[in-house]
Amino acid sequence: MGSKINPEVLIIGGGIGGVATALALARRGLRSQVFEKAPEFGEIGYGIQQGPNAYRMLDWLGVMKDLEPQAVFTQNLILIDALDDREIARISCGPAFRKRYGAPYTVVHRRDLHGVLLDACRKRDEIGLHTAKELVSFEERGNEVIARFADGSEYKGAVLIGADGLRSCVREVLIGDGPPRPAGHVTYRGVVSFDQVKDRSHFEDMVIWVGPNLHFVQYRLRGGTVMNNVATVVSRKFERGEREDYGGPDELMEVFSRTTPHVQEMLTYVGKDKNWVLHDREPQPGWTRGRVTLLGDAAHPTLQYLAQGACMAIEDAVVISGKIAAAGTGGDINAALLSYENERYLRGARVTVTARLFGAIIHCDQGTRDLRNHLLAQRTPETFWEVDWLYRGIEA
Ligand SMILES: Cc1cc2nc3c(=O)[nH]c(=O)nc-3n(C[C@H](O)[C@H](O)[C@H](O)COP(=O)(O)OP(=O)(O)OC[C@H]3O[C@@H](n4cnc5c(N)ncnc54)[C@H](O)[C@@H]3O)c2cc1C
Repeated sequence: MGSKINPEVLIIGGGIGGVATALALARRGLRSQVFEKAPEFGEIGYGIQQGPNAYRMLDWLGVMKDLEPQAVFTQNLILIDALDDREIARISCGPAFRKRYGAPYTVVHRRDLHGVLLDACRKRDEIGLHTAKELVSFEERGNEVIARFADGSEYKGAVLIGADGLRSCVREVLIGDGPPRPAGHVTYRGVVSFDQVKDRSHFEDMVIWVGPNLHFVQYRLRGGTVMNNVATVVSRKFERGEREDYGGPDELMEVFSRTTPHVQEMLTYVGKDKNWVLHDREPQPGWTRGRVTLLGDAAHPTLQYLAQGACMAIEDAVVISGKIAAAGTGGDINAALLSYENERYLRGARVTVTARLFGAIIHCDQGTRDLRNHLLAQRTPETFWEVDWLYRGIEA
């Protein structure tokens, strides 16, 4: 098969992180090639939350104008106790929030977010997009990285970025820390027409009903026409050591059986035929070697309890593009990539560790639940301290 010489950036993986990186590089005048192993670019058909830190980066990328008509601007982030349906706490995303963070809180359909990024990439001459290209190996030779694909083709570039997700094969070569850590938590998702939703009292909010070993998230998407629903359980089977088959629909129903009828009714909005077993990794540095580095879930996968995995990938994209642009593809690439990793490592680690902590807080029971509800009752909707470090974000 042919070998093409491209003194540009090779991006492995065309998820949100990969396409955001290509676009960020193009906006700084740099060329890249994105290689996705799937036959088509795409995303799963569910929602994603964007903190104001990600909104500002997407705005810098120039895609918010196209995304805004599909986005829903969240009014409040609300926590409700699933055992008695009482509100525990809320963060208002109103004027004080927008002023402090310079952006709103939005929720979007994953396909809409990925779609606007991909469309923007397609309009840029600096970006090449390839599907059905599964990276199988790479090698550094002199000033180049050679990427080899399952179809026998190979490409050469000045930099290789592994944006290849939770089970990154680039990470396996760089760090070799094996498969990600299963948390023992299992998620069920569903998007239903807004007309089908019975209780619409929180239709402008992002609501989390929390309970012992469970939570349920709800928010609208696509200009408010559909409702996104996510039910998560902490599997007792997993905790008992039954690691092969856990978190099935029977366990979902059993764990939710203590919640109010209203919460149990919402389980009809999620599909029971498919679930997602959640993973993260222990944070660790060392994801850069020579001209190769990692980005997004490949670098710092997190549980979704801060709703920030994709937001971090988008921030990574902006930071790495700035570092490579400052060095130039002919400059000291290793120093640029190390500087990128250094800037992103502890922020990613803080998201991963805080998400675990939030998981423990939202899934607690008995006295811990009483204490949580008591302490959270003392905050006001304009108290942002838990998320301040996160939503203040970074500068492009
Ligand atoms: C239930 C749930 C809810 C979530 N909610 C939120 C949220 O509200 N907000 C938020 O910000 N984040 C959220 N996240 C996290 C978010 O989904 C991820 O962090 C994000 O999608 C990671 O993007 P990525 O581009 O790094 O990786 P991925 O999306 O995994 O993309 C990696 C791509 O690489 C490709 N690939 C893999 N191997 C190869 C190879 N060898 N060669 C070529 N291509 C390859 C894959 O096919 C894939 O397309 C949530 C996650 C879960 C599980």
